[in-house]
Amino acid sequence: MNVKEIYVKADALLEGHFKLSSGKHSQYYLQSAKVLEQPATAKMLAEALAEQIRASDLKVDTVCAPALGGMIAGFALAQALGVRSIFAERVNGVMTIRRGFDLHVGENVLICEDIITTGGSAMEAGEAVAQMGGVVVAYAALANRGFCARKGSSLKRMANCKLPENLPFFALEDFTFTIYEPENCPLCADGSEAIKPGSRGN
Ligand code: ZN
Repeated sequence: MNVKEIYVKADALLEGHFKLSSGKHSQYYLQSAKVLEQPATAKMLAEALAEQIRASDLKVDTVCAPALGGMIAGFALAQALGVRSIFAERVNGVMTIRRGFDLHVGENVLICEDIITTGGSAMEAGEAVAQMGGVVVAYAALANRGFCARKGSSLKRMANCKLPENLPFFALEDFTFTIYEPENCPLCADGSEAIKPGSRGN
């Protein structure tokens, strides 16, 4: 499966001049919602991710996604794994599990995002799960922006990765783009202005 080609075909790999959630600039931007607008594509990607997770012999009871970005990927992955799907959302800035979702003490939870950049929201969703007695067993995303080390990739974890080091991170692809400090951005130097297409850079 060529995940990059799937993103390109869905017009989800944008080229231009973008301001990421970190404040840094990039020539590329991933808009996973455009890939997931086709349920058949979402299902295909989720099945491939589920296959990796099953092969690892990990026991997953529930998938929890940080809203909004991870919700569709999380639901599709839960469906592929045949487990429950819940989500966490920000309430006054704090990632919270509400809507009547319950977790048993010791329930094995996998946190699923669409794209993991530094993994900040995913890590906060994991903390919300742990507060309710759940046990976070792994993290997953359709793609990795290259800061965290996904299982099976030779890319090394970078200092800004916020995912716990002791848990596996599953993803289908690494999307590593050069990112620039605004003051060293060649696109800015060419006179264009960076735009911010999503709230947290995904
Ligand atoms: Zn720039």
